[in-house]
Amino acid sequence: MALTLNPEKRVPLLKNPSESHHLPVKTTKTHPTRPSSDPNADKAGIYFIGTATTILSWQGIKILTDPNFLHKGDHVHLGPGVTAERKTNPAVDIDHLPPLDCILLSHYHEDHFDRLVEDSLNRDFPIISTPDAKSCLTSSSKEEPFRNVHALDFFEGLTLPIVTGPTLSGKKPQIKVTGMPGEHVPPGPLSVANELLKAVPPTNGWLIELGYSSESGSTVNEEVGYRIYISGDTLFIDELKQIPEYLHGEKIDLMLVHLGGTTIPGPKMPLLMVTMDAKQGVQLLKLVDPDVTVPIHFDDYNVMLSPLEDFKKEISAAGLDERVVYLDRGDAYQFEVRGLL
Ligand SMILES: [Zn+2]
Repeated sequence: MALTLNPEKRVPLLKNPSESHHLPVKTTKTHPTRPSSDPNADKAGIYFIGTATTILSWQGIKILTDPNFLHKGDHVHLGPGVTAERKTNPAVDIDHLPPLDCILLSHYHEDHFDRLVEDSLNRDFPIISTPDAKSCLTSSSKEEPFRNVHALDFFEGLTLPIVTGPTLSGKKPQIKVTGMPGEHVPPGPLSVANELLKAVPPTNGWLIELGYSSESGSTVNEEVGYRIYISGDTLFIDELKQIPEYLHGEKIDLMLVHLGGTTIPGPKMPLLMVTMDAKQGVQLLKLVDPDVTVPIHFDDYNVMLSPLEDFKKEISAAGLDERVVYLDRGDAYQFEVRGLL
């Protein structure tokens, strides 16, 4: 499977396309212990909008994750009897975005794909998500089904070749996206009403590999210059141990971890935790062992009961301060992709 990314032939994100804007970057952060000295380095970045909404930029391509552009005081419906109130504003509004190339959606849940987004998106804009989300988004029972949704199961990959001008070394940039395991529901016997479980759809994590392909004769060589792992809305479950096994010793450069200890049905009745809290986040960091971790999805809704401060304390106690970069909404993290020259 392939989905080609061509900045010259973008599908507009919105039904009513707005003029394009630059991202309002507050602060740009870099590697905590190895700041860049090479101005010619192949630069890429992550911009944090809020919740699990980020923009990955590289080689003129911009990928939007889990679009959620509701504002403080707005509500999301997360399933039968489960609603949550937004406590924050996104760093940028949906009609103030730069031109984008595709959406990576971890799962079909309103705090990751809200009604504003659903109503305003162009049905032909490319979306990569779970098989469950694909069947929901493309369902003929929808008034306006989406027409360009690509489903990835766990460990299933999709290569996104990037159409650019010729590079000096003859290498062509590409992004490979692979579904990673995730589970919103705690394993084992559940004492919680079955209804609650309907509130938690299947979810993916993502492995995003930025790299290059080059041809010599009839062979195509592929090299990966940077690996990003996004946890998605998962708990710390046994299946996550398959991730380091899948990587065969290759290193994750950057992990975006969904924290928050999201607990449903809500703060007045905290029955079932469906995303990692501070302790589980540190467990995941130790398991995946990424070079740098950036926490996201930690305080945007009133159902997120594990504050970022708790994670910071756990990280310090584990001696991992130099492995974590904290972004505010509107901050960016800039990094370098290896292998162009
Ligand atoms: Zn979530």
